[in-house]
Amino acid sequence: MNLTEWINPLKRPLIISGPCSAESPEQLLIIAGRLKKLGIPIMRAGVWKPRTRPGTFEGRGNEALQWLAQVKQQTGIMIATEVATAQHVEKACQAGVDILWIGARTTVNPFMVQEIADALKGTDKIVWVKNPLNPELALWLGALERINQSGISRLAGIHRGFTPFRQSRYRNLPLWQLPLELKSSCPQLPLIADPSHIAGSRNLIFEVAQRALDLGYDGLMIETHPDPDKALSDSQQQITPETLEQILAQLHTYTPSSDNTVFLNKLEKLREQIDHIDRELIDTLAARMRLAEQIGEYKKENNVAVFQAERWKEIMESRPLWGEQVNLSAEFMRELYRIIHDESIRVQTQIFNRSEHDAA
Ligand code: PEP
Ligand code: MN
Repeated sequence: MNLTEWINPLKRPLIISGPCSAESPEQLLIIAGRLKKLGIPIMRAGVWKPRTRPGTFEGRGNEALQWLAQVKQQTGIMIATEVATAQHVEKACQAGVDILWIGARTTVNPFMVQEIADALKGTDKIVWVKNPLNPELALWLGALERINQSGISRLAGIHRGFTPFRQSRYRNLPLWQLPLELKSSCPQLPLIADPSHIAGSRNLIFEVAQRALDLGYDGLMIETHPDPDKALSDSQQQITPETLEQILAQLHTYTPSSDNTVFLNKLEKLREQIDHIDRELIDTLAARMRLAEQIGEYKKENNVAVFQAERWKEIMESRPLWGEQVNLSAEFMRELYRIIHDESIRVQTQIFNRSEHDAA
């Protein structure tokens, strides 16, 4: 199974663009023409739109598939669209759609994903799986596995962010750690970012796209529309192909790795230093934990509860300040001490629960 076989011949980073929804044949032709001029090989366009609330535009359906087929025929651009049922798969395959993607609202549902996987058997489609709405790696991986088990090997994951509880800076929380964990469990799986759905507004697309490239993503999917303000879906986040061209010109791109020996030697030396410091760090953490254990024993002897709110408050106030003095962010310090404190509470609780018999 070679997951990267389809992406390797394409220019890196792979750019995919096109409207949120296919609205008319004219709209698709305008966009496809501009994308071709920019050297973008794949056009996206939603035909069936899963909308969170009813009563909004739900896509042009089967009719729009024919428009996509025409655009493909006239321009030679590859076409990608979203599928959410077995019937969608069948219709999209009949219309010659090159790439099918599973949307975030479908990835959450293993029944739907299995139905799609079964419908894909025997096809040689490229399939992309967007992350589920909720930050659960297993659900994302599970969907990719279901599709893969149907004989589809040309896969990719699309990172489109996770639903926030309240309004946040981005429409969807990026939680970059999660897609990076996907990449670590499947290093061969191409990872594409969807800055449009993460950002939710035009002015934030560049920063999200740059962050994805900094992290070594293989591609970007960015929504474009000839007249974004008039778009029938996601109008706030769609940009014109001209804006896309500017963004692409400003983005800094990287190679995934290098075989330059000077670079590799220096990198290895720095990594050796990191390994050394990590050992010291672990020894220091262990020494800290042994002290926490002594404190646990002492609290137990004196019948004092494990959790001491005052002490916790003091740690959470002082450590971010100490960190900032040596250029470590306050947020990093808070995260780190939350984890250390949780472990320390766990260890002390274990001491409390140990019976006298165990201790002897
Ligand atoms: C889309 O790509 O237009 C879309 C509906 O995406 P998501 O599934 O990420 O919400
Ligand atoms: Mn959209």
